[in-house]
Amino acid sequence: MTSAVACPYCGSPDTEFFSLFGQQLMTVQYYCRACRTPFERVRGRDVLRDAERHTRRRDGDPPGQ
Ligand SMILES: [Zn+2]
Repeated sequence: MTSAVACPYCGSPDTEFFSLFGQQLMTVQYYCRACRTPFERVRGRDVLRDAERHTRRRDGDPPGQ
């Protein structure tokens, strides 16, 4: 089950995690596949958990550090 983040522009849940760091420290970046628009979201526990899952998916990167 994926935690869907709704796009603030078109409302589509078809979004993907894009970057852990937005233009501000408290935001992360998402990308909407429906309208192809990147957007930022204020960082929260759910966001960090989502980010963690994405970073863990990479092979070769040591977790945590
Ligand atoms: Zn959208």
